[in-house]
Order: sequence, then structure tokens, then C-alpha cells
Amino acid sequence: MLIVNGKIITWGPENQIMPEGKAILIKDGLIRKISDQAEMIREFPDEERIDAAGQFVMPGNICAHTHFYGAFSRALAIPGDAPATFTEILEKLWWNLDKALNEEGIRYSALVCLIDAIKHGTTTLIDHHASPNAIDGSLDIVADAVNAAGLRASLCYEVTDRDGMENAEQGIQENLRFIKRIQERRPEDANLRAHFGMHASLTLSKETLERSVELCPEDIGFHIHAAEGVADEVDSLDKSGQRIVFRLDELGILRSQTILAHGVHFNEQEIERLASRRSWLTHQPRSNMNNAVGVAPIEDMLEAGVRVGMGNDGFSHTMWQEWKEAYLLQKLAHGDPRRMGGFTVTKIAVENNSDLVTELFDNIRVGAIQIGAAADLIFVDYHPFTQMTPGNLPWHILFGFQESMVTATIVAGKPLMYRRKLLTLDENEIATKAMEASKSVWKRFETISK
Ligand SMILES: [Zn+2]
Repeated sequence: MLIVNGKIITWGPENQIMPEGKAILIKDGLIRKISDQAEMIREFPDEERIDAAGQFVMPGNICAHTHFYGAFSRALAIPGDAPATFTEILEKLWWNLDKALNEEGIRYSALVCLIDAIKHGTTTLIDHHASPNAIDGSLDIVADAVNAAGLRASLCYEVTDRDGMENAEQGIQENLRFIKRIQERRPEDANLRAHFGMHASLTLSKETLERSVELCPEDIGFHIHAAEGVADEVDSLDKSGQRIVFRLDELGILRSQTILAHGVHFNEQEIERLASRRSWLTHQPRSNMNNAVGVAPIEDMLEAGVRVGMGNDGFSHTMWQEWKEAYLLQKLAHGDPRRMGGFTVTKIAVENNSDLVTELFDNIRVGAIQIGAAADLIFVDYHPFTQMTPGNLPWHILFGFQESMVTATIVAGKPLMYRRKLLTLDENEIATKAMEASKSVWKRFETISK
């Protein structure tokens, strides 16, 4: 496949913006050549051509922490008084909604998120799944949806003790079962990877954490919420006499492939330890603001050497929106417009997210247009009216790009959307079926909430 007539934004270590005149050759899901368009057409006359029609061609966005299972929370009314704290949000919303999910609910929650991701240019998603009344096989349902969509993802199940030890064991087994599937490296699962999921320190006993570490293969990372709310730190000190990072580290959870989500309440010592372990920390400012949990010390973490990436925590799969909130939040919170520069945002959302996913996918570069990288690309219909260079690109994106400008999404060389038409999923049909599934989920949610 040849992508022609595009202006190319490469990202990668030496970001370039190439004017029209270059073509990209894609074979077997990878970028093989970037060269003069006329020459490439002569050299590869039989390759299928995809016309970018003068738009920007750039790497797809990556979301490093999300929850497909939360899709049906959209506009859901929570019975009784509105939750007043983060713990109450967990108890009144998330821990009742996840219990209301059956197989149909899991499937359609995932599918509506995947459509959202394709339409808005998010090509890789790292998901954290929970469905306590339908655990066994739940990751296969999500995986099948991801494969049908054609996106790239890493999946896991959130192990927790909050629904009893039998349930915790089922969660552990679901992770192990799915990790085994991934380790078979089936061709149809080429765009899938696995983490070992855990909910959060505050819902996990030492026994469950130890058992998980004992059973999880060494080359698989954990994916866990950490210090999202202050209650998580308080609980960790109560249970272990240690703050979360030290509690998790002592048990062997801070592997280099491990993802901790949030870290809003980490102190200096935790940040140092996390940096030394090279585990990942993901930032989700929209979620943090919505839950009123605080402002994560993102710049301190980066300075200390923590590998910080960006997720959306189940918000819409519009990653540039997440960039914008990250950019604005630190300025407001610190009363200082110099905080969180544009390149700090791209360090997290582009560079680090790319490194994270590249490590997951056997060191095949994901998130850059370069020879040998995965062909995960989007076309963006943006018309700059001020000069645009690699030196000011972050500010063009922060102040000018919108996800509605994405007109094509390609993953591993396969077009999933072209000229705004979805090619792998039928949005009308899925929305209709999701509506039915969500009605029954909402009904069960109401019963469970009583
Ligand atoms: Zn989360």
C-alpha cells in the first residue's frame, strides 16, 4: 500500500513535518519506505494507493489507561444523594455498574468505545476491565471486539478482594488465562497484548497481591490504580505501615512493564522509588478533575525520571482533548502560566506513550512514522494559518487540532476508517444493540444500588 498526497508529521526522536511530495510504503503492517512520491509510484506501480488528499498524515494517538467497561455510565443517574467523595463515587457508581455487566454489556461497552477511538484517531488502547458477575471469558469478549475493530490494545482484568476471595481468585485466573492466549501469538491476535490487572491497593490484601505476583509470568507487567484518591494512601499505611509505592514495590509489583494509573498523592520518596524501578505512571487529568481527587505532580515526576504516559480513564477517546486539559490544569493549579509547556505534554502523550507501547509490541516502534515502525496512522484535515514547524507543533495541536478533523484511521496497515466512513464496524447497528444492552445494564444497576 502506498499513502500518497499527504503532508507527513513523523513524531519520533527527530520530528519532521514533510510537505506534500513524499509517499509512504506499507507492507505487512509496517512502514517500509518513505520517499519521493513520483519515484515510489514508478517503483511500486501495482501497490494499492490511498489518497491523503493534502491532509496531514501522522501517527495515531495512544491511550495508556482506559476502561471500556465504563461506557454505559454515560448520563446514568446515580440513585440517592450525589457521591460526595472519591470513595463514594467508587461505591455508588463504579462498583455497582461493573456488577451489572453481563456478556452483552461487556461486548457493547467495548464496541462503542472502539468506534469512538477509530473515529477520533486513537489507534492503541490499554484497557483495565472489570465485570465481577461475568469474569471468566470476559477478556475474550473484549479481545474479539478489538480484533473486529482492527485496533491495537493491551487488556487485563482488575483483580480485587472487594467481592470476596472467590471472586479475587477468578480475576487472577482470568488474567492468567488471557496472558496464556496472548503468549500463543496467534496470527489473529497480532495487535493484542496482555497486562496482569489489579484494581487498586485499597481493595487488595497482601495475600492476593502475593499470589498474583507468584503466578504472573515474569515478562508481563501489572496494571493497577495507585494513589488516585488520598484514601488509597491512608489504607496502604493502615494495612502495611508503608505508602503505596513502597507497599507495591516490596511485593515485586513495580516491574519495568508495570503501569500505575494516576499517582495523584505520591510523595517525593515514592516518586524517587518509582523512577528507579522504571515502571510507568499514567496521567488522566479529565478524570482527576471530575472526581476532584487532586492534581498529580506530573512535572516533578518527569524531573525525577519517572516514565509518565497519558490515558483517558474511560473518558472519550479524544486524546488531544486530554492533552489540552493536562496543559491547562497544571497552570491553573499552580497559578503559573509557565507550568506544563507544550513539549512536556508531547513528552508524555507522544514520546512516552510510544515507548510504552513499543516495549509491549516486541520493540516494533508504535507511534512514529519511520522505517520499520507499525503503520498506525491517521489523516487530519487541518489547515494551518500560521507557520507550523516541529518547534511549535505542540501548540498547533493544543490550540488548533480537533479530533473531528480525523478523516482516516489505519492500524497495522489496515484502513479502519477512510473519508470518515467506518470500514470494520457498523456504528448504526452497534449503537442500536448497545442501547438495548445498556437498558438492561441500567436496570440491574438500579436493583444493585438499592
Ligand atoms: Zn482507571
